[in-house]
Amino acid sequence: MKPMDMQSNIQKTDLLSLLPEDIILQITEMGYPEYRGEQLVNWLARGVRDFSEMQNLPKKMREDLSEHFTLFRPQVMRKQESKIDGTVKFLWQLADGNSIETVVMSYRYGNTVCISSQVGCRQGCAFCASTIGGLVRNLTAGEMLDEVLFSEIESAKKINHIVLMGIGEPLDNFNSVVQFLKLVNHKKGMNIGYRHISLSTCGITERFHDLALLDIPITLSVSLHAPDDETRDRIMPANHGRGINELMKACNEYFQMTGRRISFEYAMIRGVNDSEKHAELLAQRAKEVGAHVNLIPLNHVDERNLTATSDRVIHAFKDKLEEEHVNVTIRRKLGSDIEASCGQLRRNTIRETHNQS
Ligand code: SAH
Repeated sequence: MKPMDMQSNIQKTDLLSLLPEDIILQITEMGYPEYRGEQLVNWLARGVRDFSEMQNLPKKMREDLSEHFTLFRPQVMRKQESKIDGTVKFLWQLADGNSIETVVMSYRYGNTVCISSQVGCRQGCAFCASTIGGLVRNLTAGEMLDEVLFSEIESAKKINHIVLMGIGEPLDNFNSVVQFLKLVNHKKGMNIGYRHISLSTCGITERFHDLALLDIPITLSVSLHAPDDETRDRIMPANHGRGINELMKACNEYFQMTGRRISFEYAMIRGVNDSEKHAELLAQRAKEVGAHVNLIPLNHVDERNLTATSDRVIHAFKDKLEEEHVNVTIRRKLGSDIEASCGQLRRNTIRETHNQS
C-alpha cells in the first residue's frame, strides 16, 4: 500500500465526544505538553471547529490534529423564531448530510434547549412525527453537545436547562447519551448542572437500572400517555412485551435507588386516552410511584390521524387528578406558529425535498 493510501485509512477519533481530560491525555501521548491540550480544550469550548483557526497552537500540531481527529460544525439549515413567544427552532445539517432538530424555549427561570438524541427513531409511537421514517442512526455525544452549544451561540440565549425530548429515544443510544451528559456537565465545558437536565423515555425499562447506577442526578421523564395496557399498546409499540406493570416496577426501583421523583408525560389525544376512567387509572399509577404528571395538548402532525383533546376536557382531567392529590401541570404550548413539536421540521423538510425531486 502506498503511504498516501495508508494515511487515508487511519481511523480518525471523534474529538468532540472525548472528555477534556481524555483530550489532554491524547495530546500528551502525541508528545505535546499538557498546556497544549488545555488550549485545544478551550478552543473547543468556545465553539471553534476548525484546527486552522486555533492560532495559539503550532502549525505542526494543527496538522497533526487534523490527521488524527475529526471535527465538524453543524450547519444551520433552517432557523425559525416564534413571533408569539420567542421560541427558536433549528434544523441542523450534520457531517454526513443527515438533519436533526433543536428547540430553544424561554421561560421565566431561563432558557431550555430541547435536543435530539438520534436521527429518526425506531419506537413507532402513533402520534409522533420523529419516528415516521424509522431510525437512521444514533447521534454521537459530540453532536448532542454541539446542539446545545450552537443553539446557545446562534440564538444568543444563555442555555440553563436541557431536555432530551427531541428526535429519538435516548435510552436506545445509552452510551453516547451518558457521555454527552458528562460532557455538557463538565467544568471545562458548558458546566450545566445535572439537576437542570431531563431525559425523556418511552419506557425502555431494561435501562432504568443502569441509569440509576450511574448516580447522575438528572430528572427521568417517562412518556406514559396511557395508564392501561390496552390503550398504551395501541399508541406505543414500546409497551408490547413490557407492559405497564413492568414500567411501574422500573419507575419505583429508579425512585428507590436515586431518591429522585419521576415525571410522567401525558399527551392528550381526543377519544383515545382522555376519559374519566383514564384519569382515575392515571391517578393510581402516579400515586404508585410518586410521579408528577405533565399533561400536554397533542401537537398536530399531518401524517397522524389524531386530534388534541379540547382545553375544557384537559382542565377537567387535571381537576380529577388533583382531587386524587396528584401533582399535575398542563404544559404551556410554545412555538405553535413554527411547528415546534419534535420531528415536524425535519419531517416537513424531508417531504419538501422529496416532492421537489
Ligand atoms: N423518545 C423519547 C423522547 C422524545 S419525544 C420519549 O418517548 O419520551 C419527547 C416527548 O414528546 C415524549 O413525551 C413524546 O411522547 C412526546 N410527543 C411526541 N409526539 C408528540 C405530539 N404530536 N404531541 C405531543 N407530544 C408528543
